[in-house]
Amino acid sequence: MITPTPTLLEVRSVNQMYGSGDRRFTAVQNINLSMKEGEFVALVGPSGCGKSTLLRIITGLNKPSSGVVLYRDNVLTGVNPHATIVFQTFALFPWLTVQQNVEIALKVRGVPAEERASRAVALLDKVGLDGFENAYPRELSGGMRQKVGFARAMAVEPELLCLDEPFSALDVLSAEALRGELLELWTAGDIPTKAILMVTHNIEEAISLADRVVVMDKQPGRVVADLTVDLPHPRHRKSPEFIAKVDLVYATLSGQTEPESLEMGSAPGEPGRTRTLPDVQVVNLAGLLEALAEKPDDRADIYQIVEELKVDSNQLFLLQEAAEMLGFATVSKGDITLTTLGQTFVDASILARKEIFATRIRRLPMFRWLLNILAKADKHELEWDVIQSALELEFPPEEAEKQVEVAVNWGRYAELMSYDDGKATISLEEPGKI
Ligand code: ADP
Repeated sequence: MITPTPTLLEVRSVNQMYGSGDRRFTAVQNINLSMKEGEFVALVGPSGCGKSTLLRIITGLNKPSSGVVLYRDNVLTGVNPHATIVFQTFALFPWLTVQQNVEIALKVRGVPAEERASRAVALLDKVGLDGFENAYPRELSGGMRQKVGFARAMAVEPELLCLDEPFSALDVLSAEALRGELLELWTAGDIPTKAILMVTHNIEEAISLADRVVVMDKQPGRVVADLTVDLPHPRHRKSPEFIAKVDLVYATLSGQTEPESLEMGSAPGEPGRTRTLPDVQVVNLAGLLEALAEKPDDRADIYQIVEELKVDSNQLFLLQEAAEMLGFATVSKGDITLTTLGQTFVDASILARKEIFATRIRRLPMFRWLLNILAKADKHELEWDVIQSALELEFPPEEAEKQVEVAVNWGRYAELMSYDDGKATISLEEPGKI
């Protein structure tokens, strides 16, 4: 007989209001969310959609205005002793050594003094900090400090481990290494943790780690999708299945309604119309999105924006087209409105912006075609003229040249391709990435 997996957490019809009088507003509305033992759930959505509020409610740090949280079928009242939150920046005690920082958590849990040292050493070993027991936090890199934070969270042996953007303050390599270690601990069943809930802005990170991705939107904060990621570990970021999942989350965030093929047109050389890339610089596109994010409801009148950004209306038209094409904004009745994906882009760090941009442009038929021919080329490199001539079968020469220029600009920003000015060649930045 198969025994059903026990439900660990159940959030039922939860609402959270903040402020009072005229200022009262709904931070999260009608949240329903459950987590079973063994699940790793990622929570994504733009700033202000209530992710932290929800984490606080789940761990019992906030009492919701209405609705209930059940933990192992019991209504949660007060702080949940079985849950721990790990924040983006760990507040380690600077005057204590690494080992002492972990021992403190064990002490709070009531572990006898004689056991603390050996347990702390074992935990530090698990997160790969063997040999750093006597170092002070200031002697460690950001990634290593984060590991101490993980070790400290593990010391509490939480059944439910809540992570609030645990990797976002780290450089790319440390973040990737630490993700790997977390996943190893989790999949090997080496830790007593039964479920993980991770808030992140990074969609690739969510898909690479989680079994489910819960997508939230704001005003009011609510859940708009709950997507299953049924890919075995280790997951390969370049595999078509992985990319399809990432695209699905992006499509949800960008409110995409039309099928991809209708929205995007066809690739060069294929039947149908190839949609041109609007001739805009990424910095200007980012400027437009940032300006919209400042507006009430993330929306503005197009003519007002022309004034504000000091661009001419033709440039704005192109920017608007690019923003729509990439799913960052929608345009209707003279207004331009940021999508959730656009908000996510504005909120993201420089590197995360590049990743979002790369994911979005990779799905444009023009880019797919270009990346494809580069991938097949000798040394993954082609001369500008060769690409331009190929595009001249589709567009007039001037337009073909413009298209190569825009593609190279965007591709370089996204770190998908590079351009050698001396040789006038275009190559793939990281051939394995495509
Ligand atoms: P996220 O983590 O997704 O950025 P938050 O949960 O921090 O979202 O915030 C959701 C909304 O609630 C935001 O508009 C935020 O300004 C507001 N908010 C969060 N905490 C409080 C609070 N303690 N008092 C008043 N408003 C708050």
